[in-house]
Amino acid sequence: GGLGVRMAEKKVDLFDGLVREQVTEIVAEADVLVWVVDCQDGVTPQDEEVASFLRQSGRPVVLAANKADNETMRAAAESDFAKLGFPRIVPTSCTHNHGVPRLLEAALPLAPSCRTVSEAVEEPFRIAVVGRPNVGKSSLVNRLLGAERVMVSDIAGTTRDAVDVPFVIRDGDESVSASLIDTAGLRRRRQVDSVVEFFSAARAQKAIRRSDVVLLILDATAPGTSQDRRIARLVVDAQKPCILLANKWDLASEEMKQKELVLRIRENMSFMKHAPVHAVCALSGYNFSGILEHVLMVREQMRVSIPTSLVNQFLQDIFMRTPPPAVGTKRFKVLYGTMVSNPPPRFVLFCNDPKICAANYLQFLENRLRDAFFPEAGLPLHVELRARKAPKGTENRRNAMAGEARKRREERQAIARRHARKKGWRKK
Ligand code: GDP
Repeated sequence: GGLGVRMAEKKVDLFDGLVREQVTEIVAEADVLVWVVDCQDGVTPQDEEVASFLRQSGRPVVLAANKADNETMRAAAESDFAKLGFPRIVPTSCTHNHGVPRLLEAALPLAPSCRTVSEAVEEPFRIAVVGRPNVGKSSLVNRLLGAERVMVSDIAGTTRDAVDVPFVIRDGDESVSASLIDTAGLRRRRQVDSVVEFFSAARAQKAIRRSDVVLLILDATAPGTSQDRRIARLVVDAQKPCILLANKWDLASEEMKQKELVLRIRENMSFMKHAPVHAVCALSGYNFSGILEHVLMVREQMRVSIPTSLVNQFLQDIFMRTPPPAVGTKRFKVLYGTMVSNPPPRFVLFCNDPKICAANYLQFLENRLRDAFFPEAGLPLHVELRARKAPKGTENRRNAMAGEARKRREERQAIARRHARKKGWRKK
């Protein structure tokens, strides 16, 4: 984020408190340091101070002399900054797209741990299994892994951390390395319920944050209790994809149909409507084959990037079929939209005025985008509205078109008037 804090009077307090701590930590972790200086300012006293700090770190430094926008500045930058004693100086101009490849060429060979992309070890896909005590997390994890891999501790108040259980998911010819973050090891004990409860909530939260996808286990005989909702909130807050597994379906199926189960979950956990529901039974293995398939689908969808042209075609279609309601005299208009990131999928829609978009219309847009591009995956999806004036060209074009239309109208009126005059003249 920058060395030091720039004060109002442009004085820079280089290494105060937290900043110093953070910078020191980052420098210690780094293999190579790229130090960016402003070559238009020349070498400042702060630069000298930073230079001595970086020298002490013992890390290799590449100095990026930025804002070197032309050849003269580039030459000057190299000779100006040479006095700091760093042999690798690369003049760059980020706004003019100049020098960055050279900077990378200088920096990358200095990193001993630098791997090319093909050499990089793929991180396992992390699946967190969370749920309130007794819903069947251990049973489910064991069934998923096909072995009694999960050790269950009977010691009350155990505080051992969640364990990562590595395993491989077969996806056709591909083997996907995955790991289950198991929070099941912690068992409930009636006498210390509150303590255990506290630790399991903290553990669930940690597991959720570290995961790529969350399997939230519910008890099908009592789905969506306040405790379930608390855990579900953690998942939503962490913006993680989520699959709801309603376990113990063998006990619940006598009373209700799967449709009713889903309805009940939707009613009790309305903020989790995007998460698909599977009714399963850890004891018999009912419906288990679909779980890992679904996890793979989530993984796939987390890599999807929707081209801007497709987003805009889709928006046009939606606006034509279901136009937004008018608010006062104004109607909400989207100029264009684009997908900015994934995961979670995030769309930015540039519009005439975000304030006049009805909340339910925004929800409607979110739902339609999810249905169209990320159906059934359980990914949280966000739509951000940003105000944007119509591009200048559009305004000019619109004015020009309006001008031409006005001219044609005036010409027509003039002809009509001449016609009328002629008629009158003839009558006379
Ligand atoms: P955890 O506390 O969430 O890890 O739950 P456990 O896996 O220890 O299961 C709690 C109890 O529920 C155990 O007695 C399991 O045998 C039982 N159980 C787990 N899954 C099922 C299921 O699908 N059906 C039935 N009937 N019982 C289950």
